[in-house]
Amino acid sequence: MSDAGSEPERLLVRDLEQVATPSGRDAPLRGDALGKVEVLEDAYVLCEREEIAAVGRMRDLPALAEPIEELDGRGLCAVPGLVDCHTHACFAGDRVDEFSLRATGASYEELHAAGGGILSTVRATRAAGEGGLVAAVERHRDWMLRAGTTTFEAKSGYGLDRDIELASLRAIRAVGGIPTWLGAHAVPPEFDDADAYLDFALADVLPEAARLAEAADVFLERGAFDSAQARRYLEACRAAGLALRLHGDQFTEGGAVPLAIELGARSVDHLEATGPEGVRALGQSGVTAVLLPVSALFLDRPMPPARALVEAGAAVAIATDFNPGSAFCESLPVVCSLASTQLKLTPAEALSASTVNAAHVLSRADRVGRIAPGYRADLTLLGAPDWRYLAYHFGGPVVHSVVLAGRPLALG
Ligand SMILES: [Zn+2]
Repeated sequence: MSDAGSEPERLLVRDLEQVATPSGRDAPLRGDALGKVEVLEDAYVLCEREEIAAVGRMRDLPALAEPIEELDGRGLCAVPGLVDCHTHACFAGDRVDEFSLRATGASYEELHAAGGGILSTVRATRAAGEGGLVAAVERHRDWMLRAGTTTFEAKSGYGLDRDIELASLRAIRAVGGIPTWLGAHAVPPEFDDADAYLDFALADVLPEAARLAEAADVFLERGAFDSAQARRYLEACRAAGLALRLHGDQFTEGGAVPLAIELGARSVDHLEATGPEGVRALGQSGVTAVLLPVSALFLDRPMPPARALVEAGAAVAIATDFNPGSAFCESLPVVCSLASTQLKLTPAEALSASTVNAAHVLSRADRVGRIAPGYRADLTLLGAPDWRYLAYHFGGPVVHSVVLAGRPLALG
């Protein structure tokens, strides 16, 4: 990743084929509002320092005093810098052997029970040390930038001891990510059971994790943490000042939705196994449903009930779930494609779900997720004649470049 120039005071991105942004200023967007995207043809975006100062049609561009850096937008469309609100980007090693085994028919749960799965990444992550983790998250962040992601959340959860959990949170912060403490991801091998592990995590890790992270997350699933354990963990984290998130209903419907609603969580994520009652409850709640279609596809699982959630009035976001085991994919454009082909969201709904609503999950919807005056000048420039190529060009090199806080980045 190399800078195209020094930090400009002002940047004019001119002659764009289209600027496309979710409408209005509200967040999260629900129902019909989720699919309302404003499109300006033959347009410009003016950035001043780190913020967007103006957006409009070229014919309305006012005379601008020098000096100003210009970026030629001919052949390009601008959408808001994409926001990935659910990643596990802080890990060392890979799971390519497991990926190969799974192709021969082994299930995710069988691999986990055999000591593979999350715990094999725990071994690699513990061995990497803090320097190795910073380098790993930086590498993953650069992959995300190349795919148009300008804001990302990343979870710990591959240390599961004091030192590496805290080192993970520091590493995520050090490279510009938004850290979530996934202290309840799996039970590490040195503990006999989940309750004993939680005793340790809440007493020895939470006090410092609460200073480093913005949110806490738990894997509520058969073989990981049950509903009572998740409640205990989340209540302690909330008391320590952390916002709450849950991995829920990925394989089995295990009570994550009512628990998320009761505790006022920001989101419940996955929902592949959520039934009609859970959909209805989420539609009437303030909890955002974060859908992760790459992980459903990677594991050959059913897709979450996205259309039903939107129609029930739920706030829906989409994210990569980038991780070495069940979703080795950092591309939100791929997620937008799957949202349209698998989740039956329109490209406009997919754009709102991966910008404004994802920013809402991260408590940043007042600053990122739209192209409008006062928002941070984060743009994803698509090398396409129509912004809907974001979802349409499945797996293709659709991202031309990004502008990050007013600075154009050349993507190597
Ligand atoms: Zn996840």
